[in-house]
Amino acid sequence: MLPGIKLFDLTGRAAIITGGSKGLGTAMAAGLASAGADVLLTSRNEDEGKAAAEQIVSDFGHRALAMRADVTSQDDCEAVAARCLDEFGKIDILVNNAGINIRGPIDELTYEQFQDVQRTNTNGVWLMTKAVVPSMKEAKYGRIVNMASTLGVVGLSNRTPYATSKGAVVQMTRALGLELAPFGISCNAICPGPFLTPMNIPIKDDEQTKKSIVGAVALERWGEMQEIQGAALLLVSDAASYMAGSLVTVDGGWTAK
Ligand code: NAD
Repeated sequence: MLPGIKLFDLTGRAAIITGGSKGLGTAMAAGLASAGADVLLTSRNEDEGKAAAEQIVSDFGHRALAMRADVTSQDDCEAVAARCLDEFGKIDILVNNAGINIRGPIDELTYEQFQDVQRTNTNGVWLMTKAVVPSMKEAKYGRIVNMASTLGVVGLSNRTPYATSKGAVVQMTRALGLELAPFGISCNAICPGPFLTPMNIPIKDDEQTKKSIVGAVALERWGEMQEIQGAALLLVSDAASYMAGSLVTVDGGWTAK
């Protein structure tokens, strides 16, 4: 008999979710915990991370820890990997979710703002992945999921920092997918469309958002938090064993056009 739904069982798996204190990171962490995983949530704000972790423990009964760590710091990324090994004895799963968005026309943005977005969204993915790969290689097992974006594959005006960073994440995912596959480690990406998380609250009521973002998707609405959980569960589980460098779009049809 083929395993079917058991492919998604994460009992005993240890997962790191960067930027797990809110938004899609918390939703994915809860999804992983609901399937049996122990989770380590990282974020820049320790109190928010702790609140999210406590909710996960109370909802699912698995271990959930929070840690303050900035993905732009190599020392912090290494400390996160060390903490996961210390607490859970292994690192089965890394979800590179931490991200920021600074919007605006190129002539109004500063170079510093452009670089800030690359540092978090692109360099942070590279640094955190570099920190976990040695132990995953030793274990000959790993699941790495990068949060890219619709804007990693299509363009949108006033988004040069973000679209550049997510395009880089798409290509990093493909290169890592190939590089790590021989070691039993999969690396794939999710490309979400618009979800009404804290990242998008500043733009939720403006006309351009209604027309070019929410209006661009076939479902004509924001994604809901539980709608990211299925793609995350697929890519972190044994169900992803024949996937390498793939993009899974969860975008209400934005990129189907
Ligand atoms: P959010 O702003 O709600 O949460 C982002 C999280 O990342 C927070 O926990 C924050 O503390 C953390 N973070 C930011 N910079 C960090 C840093 N330097 N170090 C550590 N943590 C840091 O965002 P979200 O909407 O939940 O987005 C999560 C991911 O999904 C991001 O990578 C984002 O680009 C991507 N994404 C979101 C959408 C969307 O519509 N919300 C669409 C496509 C892709």
